[in-house]
Amino acid sequence: MKILETPQAFREWREEQAKLVGFVASRRVGFVPTMGALHEGHASLLKRARAESDVVVLSIFVNPAQFNDPNDFQKYPKTWEQDLEIARREGVDAVFAPRAPDMYPDGYKYKVTENEVSTVLCGASRPGHFDGVLSVVMKLFQIVQPTKAYFGEKDYQQLSLIRGMVDAFFLPLEIVPVETMREADGLAMSSRNRRLTPEQRAQAPRIYQIIVKASSSDEARRQLEAEGFKVDYVLDRENRRFVAVFMGEVRLIDNVELQ
Ligand code: AMP
Repeated sequence: MKILETPQAFREWREEQAKLVGFVASRRVGFVPTMGALHEGHASLLKRARAESDVVVLSIFVNPAQFNDPNDFQKYPKTWEQDLEIARREGVDAVFAPRAPDMYPDGYKYKVTENEVSTVLCGASRPGHFDGVLSVVMKLFQIVQPTKAYFGEKDYQQLSLIRGMVDAFFLPLEIVPVETMREADGLAMSSRNRRLTPEQRAQAPRIYQIIVKASSSDEARRQLEAEGFKVDYVLDRENRRFVAVFMGEVRLIDNVELQ
């Protein structure tokens, strides 16, 4: 498994891969972008990529541009050795793990902005978040040049925005959605779950349990608040129910399809 730390090094590796069979189009490159602190949700994306690709690329980059809260950025979990173990186990060919200055040679003067979907739900409470996401994903797509890129439905709004960007800019790749992996108690797997106290972790599955069962989004909000959650939003939109809550300073999101 190759570990590449700069866009330049990655591009050189990518060109070698292409040369192995003569031309780029003949190798299917499956790409899974992440911020590390990998769990079984990430692993399910890697498995899908492995099954559908000749070459699997994982990126690990905690993208400063998408954090509106510096404290959240600082405290984002980092588990580099474990991440590499999971990557090896899942048959990853190359890990791209750049440093921020190498990804933002322009100091983030250039960005990708969407001005509709990105203003609601998480976009409403995290100003600039989706500009940061779209900009870094655009950069990663240019460097990695994948055939397919895999994104979790756990971050459903992000998935929709990335699909929209791919269409808007005629990017030559396919976006593959992967369903949300959950713990046995229903809690959506998330790197941020590691930051929960044991008490918070015990209460967190209620988020999923409540949004699945409640008869309306208002009812779900009432129940969550009654159980002591600080609710950012609960909203029904396009046959899905979306939720974001704070447990202490940790913000958790989830969404489910409505029946
Ligand atoms: P992150 O490292 O949190 O930025 O996530 C990287 C990718 O993994 C994104 O496409 C996420 O949607 C996806 N992902 C995160 N958690 C899960 C999960 N529980 N199930 C499926 N995909 C997930």
